[in-house]
Amino acid sequence: MKTPVAIAKGDGIGPEIMDATLFILDAAAAQLELHEVEIGEKMYLKGFPTGMDPKTWEILRHTKAFLKAPITTPQGGGFKSLNVTVRTTLGLYANVRPCVSYFPFVDTKHPGMDVVIVRENEEDLYAGLEYRQTPNVCQSLKLISRQGSEKIVRYAFEYAKRHGRKKVTLFMKDNIMKFSDGLFHKVFDEIAKEYPDIVNEHWIVDIGAAKLADTPEIFDVLVMPNLYGDILSDVAAQIAGSVGLAGSANIGDHGAMFEAIHGSAPRRAGQNVANPSGLLLGAIQMLVHIGQEKVAEAIHNAWLCTLEEGIHTYDIYKEGVSREKVGTKEFAKAVAANLGKQPQQLSPVTYKVLPHLPPPPLTEGSLEERKLLGIDIFIYHKPPLEHFFSRISHIAIGPLRLKMITNRGVRVWPEGQPETFCIEQWRCRFLGNDGVAVSQNDLIQLLHAFDTVQMDVIKSEHLYSFAGNPGF
Ligand code: NAD
Repeated sequence: MKTPVAIAKGDGIGPEIMDATLFILDAAAAQLELHEVEIGEKMYLKGFPTGMDPKTWEILRHTKAFLKAPITTPQGGGFKSLNVTVRTTLGLYANVRPCVSYFPFVDTKHPGMDVVIVRENEEDLYAGLEYRQTPNVCQSLKLISRQGSEKIVRYAFEYAKRHGRKKVTLFMKDNIMKFSDGLFHKVFDEIAKEYPDIVNEHWIVDIGAAKLADTPEIFDVLVMPNLYGDILSDVAAQIAGSVGLAGSANIGDHGAMFEAIHGSAPRRAGQNVANPSGLLLGAIQMLVHIGQEKVAEAIHNAWLCTLEEGIHTYDIYKEGVSREKVGTKEFAKAVAANLGKQPQQLSPVTYKVLPHLPPPPLTEGSLEERKLLGIDIFIYHKPPLEHFFSRISHIAIGPLRLKMITNRGVRVWPEGQPETFCIEQWRCRFLGNDGVAVSQNDLIQLLHAFDTVQMDVIKSEHLYSFAGNPGF
């Protein structure tokens, strides 16, 4: 029985590494019914803003998995990231990126490295909540939800449990982003308690990243919000040997997509030089996912043998370590020729098919009492503050009074400092006197009052407390 699988050859080096990968899958007799879809640069330029004909969704829904080569998103406005669209639309919430060193056959400073980065795939700064607010100010919103955090953190612990891994480490930055990363951290601490046999720890992402780059062998499974995971999985793959050596699985409750972690490397396109290993390792993860674990095992071991033989593409080729520098096609042929062999020094891989994880249980979430306390009104006005302060300082609606004005998060009133550099976006905070609750209508009247004094409002944000604790 062949498994229906969608494939997309993508852009740049995409077609070359996909052809090499399909050549190996075919040589290993993978039982796949391929459905090719066209995505990427050509589709963007044909006028599809997500880089994909909407009809493609039907194919992705029908197939069990999607093997996708990297694509190029054209520069300029109006183009939405296809990768983000597919991940979020299909709910592929977990991005799993193993980064392993193949020392001594691939040069690396980190012989013992074997980390799996579990990256949250749907939220954070990738939610696409971006705005140009003034001619000179843009804003991207970082969104973290309890539901999204619970799903990914539980996935990381389940992954560790199912793969016999010992430790799950969280990277975040809740010393600065106290609410968003703070929530991710809180959820991590809660879920970690359900897995007493797995060690858990947390690092602030900056020092964690430094440690990862310096001593990656101290980490096992890493879980983190989307942006940190995107950046650090490239770092991890590169220090393991090459960004061209890591594959990636995007797993959801209703589908899965497999790819290389790297991009379309347009400078290397059409030269038969790219390393197809990242996409091949993505395809191996796909074979395990669809229950063809024996084929996955044979290909993975043949690939390890090829690395051991020193048959290397340019990115991992090193004088004295490698034996032969080969192109994409020749590398694929060498892997195919090694099918059936076991690596001699690198540990052979065995795969067993694990039952698919049921959709993660979600807690009911917080039901804390919520109270509306005020509003932050963001306005567009050229500095200095004195040019408009008198127009808003007197505004009083019900219990709402002006309490603070900030510029780029720095308080400029009351008690501002003359050195503070100001731009044309100001945040004016109005709160009810003595922490008294206010109404939606009070806020509407306040916005109306801003309009009356001809202030250019670009955005507003309601201010709530939760069980008496301010949420701002
Ligand atoms: P990139 O990952 O495409 O390439 C950066 C460099 O890494 C290349 O110049 C090359 O030296 C090396 N490299 C990458 N893959 C390699 C491979 N398989 N073999 C050998 N060397 C390899 O990053 P970029 O240049 O910043 O991005 C190029 C395009 O890719 C952009 O349009 C970007 O939006 C897109 N992109 C797509 C995806 C995706 O489709 N999943 C992911 C990241 C970037």
